Amino acid sequence: LHKEGEKLITTHCSYCGMQCGMHIRVSEKTGKVLGVEPRYDWPVTNGKLCPKGVTAYQQIDHKDRIKRPLIKRNTTFVESSWDEALDLIADKFSELQKKYGKDTLSVFGGVSMTNEKCYLVGKYARAALGTRFIDYNGRFCMSSAAGGFLSTFGIDRGSTLPWTELEHSDCFLIAGSNTAECHPTSIQWFWKARDKGAKMIVVDPRETPTARIADVHLDLKPGTDSALANGLLHLLIKEDYVDERYVMERCNNYKELKASVDPFTPVVTSEITGVSEEKIIQAAHMYGKSPRSVVMFARGVEQQSKGVDNVTLYTALALVRGQVGNFASGVATFTGQGNGQGGREHGQKSDLLPGYRKLTDPDAVKYISKVWGIEPEEMPKPGVSAFEMFDEIQAGNIRAMHVICSNPAVSAPNTEYVWDSFKKLDFLVVNDFFLSETAEFADVVLPAASWAEDEGTTTNLEGRVIHIRKVSEPLYESKPDWVILSEIAKRMGKGKHFPYENSREIFEELRLAAKGGNADYYGITYDRIDQEDGVFWPCPSEDHPGTPTMFKETFSTLDGKANLPAVTWEKAGEIPSEEFPHILTTGRVVFHYLSGNQTRRINFLMEQCPLPYAEIHPELASQYNVQNGETIKLTTPRNTMDLEVKLTKAIRKDTIFVPYHWGKKLAVNQLTNPCLDPISRMPEFKVCAVKMEKL
Ligand code: SF4
Repeated sequence: LHKEGEKLITTHCSYCGMQCGMHIRVSEKTGKVLGVEPRYDWPVTNGKLCPKGVTAYQQIDHKDRIKRPLIKRNTTFVESSWDEALDLIADKFSELQKKYGKDTLSVFGGVSMTNEKCYLVGKYARAALGTRFIDYNGRFCMSSAAGGFLSTFGIDRGSTLPWTELEHSDCFLIAGSNTAECHPTSIQWFWKARDKGAKMIVVDPRETPTARIADVHLDLKPGTDSALANGLLHLLIKEDYVDERYVMERCNNYKELKASVDPFTPVVTSEITGVSEEKIIQAAHMYGKSPRSVVMFARGVEQQSKGVDNVTLYTALALVRGQVGNFASGVATFTGQGNGQGGREHGQKSDLLPGYRKLTDPDAVKYISKVWGIEPEEMPKPGVSAFEMFDEIQAGNIRAMHVICSNPAVSAPNTEYVWDSFKKLDFLVVNDFFLSETAEFADVVLPAASWAEDEGTTTNLEGRVIHIRKVSEPLYESKPDWVILSEIAKRMGKGKHFPYENSREIFEELRLAAKGGNADYYGITYDRIDQEDGVFWPCPSEDHPGTPTMFKETFSTLDGKANLPAVTWEKAGEIPSEEFPHILTTGRVVFHYLSGNQTRRINFLMEQCPLPYAEIHPELASQYNVQNGETIKLTTPRNTMDLEVKLTKAIRKDTIFVPYHWGKKLAVNQLTNPCLDPISRMPEFKVCAVKMEKL
């Protein structure tokens, strides 16, 4: 496909968990990145790319790239040398630790980076800085899925089956995922299955492009997923769709589940969820009759203060039907960030070490300390979750933060509290390749190399570890994050623990650190990834084939059985009241990625979707005499913002939807509720009470 004078470098898109295969066109003469070509031989996406993917290469040589380190002097950023910036960071970190103790420093990581970098962020926090305060933006993304899978299956692998089997499924129950916009290249698999007669049930308060192609759309009230899932379970049991043998042999807690779903008759479920009884019954029969079904969900279900309950209940739908561990059936979550799966496995979570080992397990601490070359006593204790780190700043316990590949000034809930927390810090360091809203608060900004300027691995939404190839040398004076962290570690006197020359050396250490852990990568090598189109973890040895299908014979719990939940429905953390009578929910659009720090700089994407807006049903709008295109003020107990109205019948009459990809006064997260799930510590982005006024 490539022209004379060009070479094609095979890699993957930088954005969502699909990690679509692509070739980047590079000039042989200048090394300049010229464009993108589809990669038809990549089995998961077969050459498909979405609008973000086809323009991702435009980030690389973008005029907004941070070219040199920046130090803030009298409120203005001034370019500096690397030595000056790194020395300043090490001096300041040391000074603060001397005065206030080790835990005065904190690290806020991200998962839009390779496994090697994610692994090193955890090691940097614990072995170089010696702080217990580390967490990451996956807390706002995948944590409820992780909590649900751990309690049900004993292991947090986001999909129990490979995507290439989806075309052979007979029924998809998709809850809280606008797949067509957020993971567009997945849709081909549904179409292929539908050509063979497969059914689709979509659960969503909005009639999204995904819901539009469903056989049944369950348009539930935000915050009522547990009631709906309990209602569907009630019907599966009552109508005799349960695979009794599978449940008896492979699951615990069925009696308790049966008792807890008993009150959720169609009448009760309909009353709570707002979905008609007929549709609930139709969906239960459609799902119950399908011999090979897949339950899939995403942030709509997970970003709630009952996110873990929701995940366990939707997962139970697959278990009672005996669908987990079989061909073309099972459970999957759509990973939001590119490395949302791998990035959570190797030590960025406040309570976890590499390989999903627990920090509270003395043997795990001993093992990882040995791999890192530190004493077990030096290993910091567990810290707190991402949003709770801002509480620690407010309390004066954290005085400095290093943010790496993340933009919590946009993506955290109740953002004004987060902005105020950043202002309270004595010192903030940010690594990024564009000046994000978070970076604007920083004292020092370090120019990180972009995704295409370094080699490494990521783990896609299937659990397949893949190879991200280096497309070009880091532009300007940027450096890969692992180089930056190693340089700071050296200046903090911990250089001997960070001796790396390249990403492959870090991966070798990661393999060892993950060996025997819950997320075992030991058998995965770069060569195998290239030869086998990626390798699925768990993969404990080099002669192990990897694990595309999970739980064929046993689950990863202590007794080998899956744990069915027995949880009822509870109201969201904040429900409509007289003062705030409607429900606000947030989400994504196809043209933007997460906080928008990258996609808001791509002209084509901005032309399609330049600003946030409020999607409102015409009947709700008429109560306020609001027309399409007019401006309204939305207010929640936390904040207020103005938005243009988009009238649509594709949303519930009690719900307002706003996409979240913008910062500052355009950030809808100014309004969202930081009420946390008790297990996953996931904030409730998907439900809060809101009032609306015409301007
Ligand atoms: Fe594929 Fe996601 Fe990239 Fe779109 S954003 S091309 S779906 S990886």
